[in-house]
Amino acid sequence: MRSRIFVSMLILVLLTIMLSTLFLFAVYYQQLSKDVEREMNNGVAYVSAGIKAVGYDYLSEIDGLDRNSRITLVDLDGTVLFDNFADVSNMDNHRDREEIAEAMSEGRGQSVRFSKTLDSHYYYLAVRLDDGKVLRISARADSIFTVFMDNIVLIIAIALVAFLILLILARQLTKRIVEPINKIDLENPDESEIYDELSPLITRIRKQRSHIEQQMVELKKKQDEFIAITEGMDEGLIVLDKMGYILSINNRALELVGSSRSDQTGIHFLELIREFQVQKTIESALDGKFLEKSFKIENKIVELRANPVFEGKEVKGAIVLLVDVTEKYRAETIRKEFSANVSHELKTPLTSIYGYAELLKNGLVKEEDVQSFYQRIIDEASRLITLIDDIIKLSQLDERTTDLVKEKLNLYDRAKNIIGTLELMSQEKMITVTLEGGDAWIYGVPRLIDDLIYNLCHNAIKYNRPKGSVNVKLSKKAGRVLLSVKDTGIGIPKEHHDRIFERFYRVDKSHSKETGGTGLGLSIVKHITNYHEGIISLDSDRDKGTEITISFPEA
Ligand code: ADP
Repeated sequence: MRSRIFVSMLILVLLTIMLSTLFLFAVYYQQLSKDVEREMNNGVAYVSAGIKAVGYDYLSEIDGLDRNSRITLVDLDGTVLFDNFADVSNMDNHRDREEIAEAMSEGRGQSVRFSKTLDSHYYYLAVRLDDGKVLRISARADSIFTVFMDNIVLIIAIALVAFLILLILARQLTKRIVEPINKIDLENPDESEIYDELSPLITRIRKQRSHIEQQMVELKKKQDEFIAITEGMDEGLIVLDKMGYILSINNRALELVGSSRSDQTGIHFLELIREFQVQKTIESALDGKFLEKSFKIENKIVELRANPVFEGKEVKGAIVLLVDVTEKYRAETIRKEFSANVSHELKTPLTSIYGYAELLKNGLVKEEDVQSFYQRIIDEASRLITLIDDIIKLSQLDERTTDLVKEKLNLYDRAKNIIGTLELMSQEKMITVTLEGGDAWIYGVPRLIDDLIYNLCHNAIKYNRPKGSVNVKLSKKAGRVLLSVKDTGIGIPKEHHDRIFERFYRVDKSHSKETGGTGLGLSIVKHITNYHEGIISLDSDRDKGTEITISFPEA
């Protein structure tokens, strides 16, 4: 701006200088012409007065005195009698010269014309003397251009000085115009020292400022709302522009793509997401195609929905939604496996029962073996019942179909009862079961808590060694109640710890028939624990015994 004002001023200065120089020169030239004319008039008057007083000899007297004015005397017939610049014998008859002819007829004549004799433009002024002869005085009439060129150095020098002075003035003036504008404090426009002409600008700046401030507040509000919504979402959300640069990303999305960087806005999505297939899915959204796919990202199964955003027919960007479906996927897999396992688990005892019954019916069993066959049928049937019982419990826990009402209950009393019901079994296996601790109150569903304690104690006896022991202990720690069941049994090798709570998972599958286990006991324990906001911990190893501890929130 400053340089534009300065340049404009400079052009103005140059134009002014040029025009005023030309104008002044024209005036000067005009004046010069007038001076020449006056001088010639004077000259004519003096010379004619001289001739009158002295006679024509006067001309010879003044010949050579004035080298600027040419003096010519022409006879009545036009013959040149005297000329102080040229040799009269070589001169033409001058009767036809405009000023001479005019002077002869009118008494006075003048003209400006080119003189061949002197090879230059001349002013001519002629007067008729008393005897009829004509006295003519002439002076060189320089053209305006010639005069201009004669004085060019001076003109340029003056113009240059004027230019330099105006240059300094223009610079200062520009500074004076621009400085107040530069000094306007946009934050506090009203406090700026300005000249009057800037007031409308300041008013406008003030208005614009308050308008912008208002819009900023609105924008901030909207942005906060957007952040609050997106950060509250369980889904990951990424908004991309049409080039694939991230306009917005919520923390959940960062978490799901496994990024540790916090602010990812402004970077390209390819820098954030390294999985090739995911990149391709997002790219197809930026090409205008909606895609929904599941990917494994960092041990999680993430469902990715990439939606193109259109404006008219043009893709303006993409919205990518990421949903963690690991749990859903896992639950589905478990359900599928469970259905397959259930069919298999049910089929085995039923096939046995069918086989024994058929043998009995066809009389293929020896009389003395009949009883044992009946017993086998009863065993298999009871195994089937236990299995179906467990399956029903699990599916009830899964679906939460029955109304599972929690009430305040004492784990100590519950454990005491269960140990009582298992007394026969423990005696048979010569296992000592002890109960340690005191009252331990929790909120729980009595039937489920009983199942939980039963399964733990039952396993502790079942997988124990003869003459082994089981210790059920109740204690409290940091606002929680701990129930631990510890045995001196065969233990669970470390490599099975991860899977021991899965449905139908057994450490020793070949012996499961002997132990009569269904493989669902610990799975039920885990479900019940989760239902009561409990935490399970397992401490066990091969031949080292097992301790399973469950902590519940204290009532
Ligand atoms: P099961 O009906 O076979 O006992 P569970 O789900 O109760 O099924 O247990 C799963 C597996 O964990 C069992 O088959 C057994 O191998 C192992 N297990 C459970 N409890 C104990 C324990 N106290 N000592 C050793 N192994 C155990």
